[in-house]
Amino acid sequence: MSVAQQVQSNPAIFISGNEAVALAARDAGCRVASAYPGTPSTEILEFIAAYPDLYTEWSINEKVSLEVAIGASLAGSRALCAMKHVGMNVASDALMTQTLIGAVGGLVIAIADDVGLSSSQNEQDSRYWGRFAHLPVLEPSDSQDAYDMTRFAFGLSEQYAVPVILRLTTRICHVKGLVTLSIPQVKEGRKFTKDPSRLVMVPGNARQRIPLMLERDKTLATFSESCSLNVIEQGSTRQVGFITSGAAYCHVREAFPDAPLIKLGMSHPAPIEMIREFADSVEKLVVIEEVEPLLETELKAAGIQLHGKEAIPRMGELTPAVITPAVARLLGKENTIAAVGVTEVFPRPPTMCVACPHLGIYYCLSHVKNTIIAGDIGCYTLGAGHPWNALDTCISMGASLSVAQGIDKGRSEEDANKNVLAVIGDSTFLHMGMQGLLDITYNKGNVTILLLDNRAVGMTGGQNAPSSGLNIHGDATVKIDFRKLCEALGVRSERIHEVNPYELPTLFKALRDEVKVKEPSVIITNQPCVLTERYAKQPPLTVDTDKCTGCSNCLDVGCPAILVARRETVIKPNGKEKVLSFVNIDSAACTGCNLCINTCAPDAIVPVISTARIDTVELK
Ligand code: SF4
Ligand code: SF4
Repeated sequence: MSVAQQVQSNPAIFISGNEAVALAARDAGCRVASAYPGTPSTEILEFIAAYPDLYTEWSINEKVSLEVAIGASLAGSRALCAMKHVGMNVASDALMTQTLIGAVGGLVIAIADDVGLSSSQNEQDSRYWGRFAHLPVLEPSDSQDAYDMTRFAFGLSEQYAVPVILRLTTRICHVKGLVTLSIPQVKEGRKFTKDPSRLVMVPGNARQRIPLMLERDKTLATFSESCSLNVIEQGSTRQVGFITSGAAYCHVREAFPDAPLIKLGMSHPAPIEMIREFADSVEKLVVIEEVEPLLETELKAAGIQLHGKEAIPRMGELTPAVITPAVARLLGKENTIAAVGVTEVFPRPPTMCVACPHLGIYYCLSHVKNTIIAGDIGCYTLGAGHPWNALDTCISMGASLSVAQGIDKGRSEEDANKNVLAVIGDSTFLHMGMQGLLDITYNKGNVTILLLDNRAVGMTGGQNAPSSGLNIHGDATVKIDFRKLCEALGVRSERIHEVNPYELPTLFKALRDEVKVKEPSVIITNQPCVLTERYAKQPPLTVDTDKCTGCSNCLDVGCPAILVARRETVIKPNGKEKVLSFVNIDSAACTGCNLCINTCAPDAIVPVISTARIDTVELK
């Protein structure tokens, strides 16, 4: 059976948008794919990595990832890099020059916006990068779009020698839909062509490229007017029409099934004349765009009358429950359109995993006084929450060390005796933290650094990193020696300690000793993320309820397997009230890490199968 026949006989497959992008990359003949993991984009590379003919890598950070993809494109291969929205801030330096050079092999940059901030430090609208970098932006609305538009993007990139941004959002990345595949292409790499005037962006050459880039803007704007991705859907009413794109299109269609609309698959450059004509055909025109009023501003500047963010929220997803009442108000029909109900869920604070190796660190940090602690991006950001409350700042990837340096150097007399600490994970340290450490040592800062090496990119699901010694396929590769790295960055070897984070007394001692020292120190923890295969479970524990005094010390560890079974208010000898919390351990969840045992004076925490106390457990 030919490939074409196979594709035709294939029923549609049920996949997420991320998987659809991965499949499309393979089917478009992409030869190189790179990423730094980050929700909601992580799975794109994980799925692509399953295709053996495609080179894939977890890059050190998004800028490196984009540069790898740029290199592959310039070498003549189709290339894709994927990142979450904040990653594009890191990659932007490369992007803003690459736009002048343009693409050779098709170059697709998939940026996944965390609209609604499910797991990010901010909400960004990556469509801005299209305007800023003069690049076309494609916006899939579902998994089929994600597949079709990714393939389209490679062709568009080569046709106009321009990198193409594929703007995804959490809902597109993670929601599954039916996708019909089309015939795969095989794209061989082309010979690298030396062309310094195009590829070497010194000022003299870059100046020559700017007019070409501006000319390309005009060509792309003309293309957008007839682009097959920009579609008018005629409705049965004319009272209100919509312009929308991405996930918002699905929400508009669900909320207003009969309304006419323009679905912009290629949202930048926008097809202004097509929209102008559509605007004349409806009584009211409303732009439904997640997050910023980009299109609204452009269309208003073009003299098109419409409604936008004065009525439609600027933050979060524009679900039917959000847009239905907003549009009703615009139409003066406050009570005529019922808002779509949403199921209320019990609010749950984010917390770390059962037996997470970071629990011990934060237990210690919450018991060390007189500190200012700069945090970073990763699982350990959760140390800011209950019960630890042990982080004072958290800005961006790798910022903890440089922020701590700034706190150290900028502190007032009042804070002169405070201990300044920075907490960072292994992957984050390699991503952007190393430079901060060099700044601290070079400029003689006084910061105690906790380098939490759990040998994985823990927050996004335990992906491999140079700290794990494994690549994206799980094959052995270089394993970074953090002690040597920190030494190379200027920390004296006596000030570097490697500690098992489950050994609380050792951890406490290292911490208390090092904060007293007036020079940079690094405490490296060395136990793996519990979500990886590298973590070794031990026999679980339980609570001997006859011995439990309800002191609640073990609750300060913050392990989700420890649960309050009963509370009791007692009167202390001094007449004050005290609440006792008697606990249970969910033994099915407990991994026997032994952390909580250290906190229990009456030895009430015991193995499930025996009443003997476990004192030491060998962990990998
Ligand atoms: S031993 Fe204690 S801290 Fe460790 S997983 Fe079990 S309950 Fe949690
Ligand atoms: S530390 Fe021990 S005594 Fe105190 S609440 Fe926990 S199990 Fe009970």
